[in-house]
Amino acid sequence: PKRESQSQRKKHVAVCGGGLVGALNACYMAKRGFKVDLYEMRPDIRTLEVVKGRSINLALSCRGREALRRVGLEDTITKNGIPMHARMIHDLNGKRRPLLYGNEDQYIMSIDRRLLNEVMLTEVEKFPDVNIHFSHKLVSCDFNSGEAIFENEKGECLTKQFDLIIGCDGAYSSVRKQLMKLSRFDYQQEYIPHGYMELNIPPNKKNESAMEINYLHIWPRNDYMMIALPNLDKSFTTTLFMPFEIFESITSEEKLIQFFKDEFPDALPLLGEAELKQSFFSCKALPLVSIKCHPYHVNDKAVIMGDAAHAMVPFYGQGMNCGMEDCIVFDELLDKYNNNFAKVLPAYTKIRNPDAKAICDLAMYNYTEMRSKVNSRLFLVRKKLDNMLFKLFPNTWVPLYTMVSFTRIRYHECVQRREWQDKILTRSLILSAVCILLGFTALIYNANKFGDHWNLETPQSLLTGSFDKFQKWISRW
Ligand code: FAD
Repeated sequence: PKRESQSQRKKHVAVCGGGLVGALNACYMAKRGFKVDLYEMRPDIRTLEVVKGRSINLALSCRGREALRRVGLEDTITKNGIPMHARMIHDLNGKRRPLLYGNEDQYIMSIDRRLLNEVMLTEVEKFPDVNIHFSHKLVSCDFNSGEAIFENEKGECLTKQFDLIIGCDGAYSSVRKQLMKLSRFDYQQEYIPHGYMELNIPPNKKNESAMEINYLHIWPRNDYMMIALPNLDKSFTTTLFMPFEIFESITSEEKLIQFFKDEFPDALPLLGEAELKQSFFSCKALPLVSIKCHPYHVNDKAVIMGDAAHAMVPFYGQGMNCGMEDCIVFDELLDKYNNNFAKVLPAYTKIRNPDAKAICDLAMYNYTEMRSKVNSRLFLVRKKLDNMLFKLFPNTWVPLYTMVSFTRIRYHECVQRREWQDKILTRSLILSAVCILLGFTALIYNANKFGDHWNLETPQSLLTGSFDKFQKWISRW
């Protein structure tokens, strides 16, 4: 009877971190009927005038949308988003060229990070058995007993016990730090040499958007780049990604303006010289980290998701989307194993780890694609070829970007399929080259054999025979 009463008792779950993944995950857990306590280190962002932190807006795509749809939030969010159908490449000479993301009706959406977070927090609060504790920081946890210690804004420590602790506390996760103390926990982190800084392109004097609105604007300059995503207030949040060395070498206002005149001449008047100086020198470039680890769980007591488990560089626009998809995968496993955490947690690590690693690698790959490959002819030819083959064989030949951003094909499968596509293309290229060579040889052979005044005596004459004669023979045909 004791066992029965335990299984009938509502599972008590702590979600640590009320950011994009934590707030969404709390909705999923509450929807299952669990008792949920959500602990967030910061005060309630809905009460703050300014929220400090990472990117102001983000690109939401298929995986994130699906995760929002399952808790009934997709429409609320997307009606406040701006579709971006293509990249708009800004060349150094001021020329602009659009590069479609997929087919005409496929797009990603620019979403306000704060709005997204606020909507999800408000949604969690609607569930009956949910408590949100703002200004509560997770300090430590015990993975045997399920005890967790939180520190509130007064510096007081509170100890609580849970059936499950879910760490959604971001790239510098405290829950992950506790996991790292355990044996056989793999951890790998890499800071890239580039940092990022956010600038702003305001609406123009007529209060219109200063650039085409339905695009993700990119200024690729090989070693660095700038991007801009549209906002509902007609401004663009502009992010400069650049090696720290270059950030640090810009030490005066003159150097800054000269740098923009040389590298981003069309963006400078849109940013405004005075505003650019003000923004650039009032904040520091922030670092970008990529984190892989394994496993994501301990016993049946704790699991990490979102950036806590797999922070990635932001160049595929998948960090949040992947974190939101984590919630779907976990939820499906809870269904499959009837909320039995002892079965769900190991299964979650097993399924999600190869996918998270794959998207971390893809994001790193896109780091070079965005800032330099979009300038290469070969890249553009490959993109056109991919799109043509996608139109001909929509189920077989799906371009990599389309698979990642517009489908829920598992990330590691996207990589495998791309490798298969590369293999087919390389083999087709070799085959075509061989065919052309054979065709050419046959042509010369026939020219020698049937040409009026050209007798083929030895195979060498194929090569040594006069090219003039061959040309004459061809021209007669
Ligand atoms: P976070 O958003 O970091 O939230 C973690 C939360 O936990 C925070 O609220 C924090 O206060 C709280 N917390 C931390 N420690 C504790 C603690 N000890 N106790 C309690 N609470 C704690 N992703 C995309 O999909 N598309 C994009 O276009 C995109 N653009 C990006 C651009 C930039 C410049 C950057 C840096 C990232 C971008 N990302 C993008 C990635 C995205 O921001 C992250 O993947 C996403 O925010 C992860 O959400 P999270 O909830 O896991 O972590």
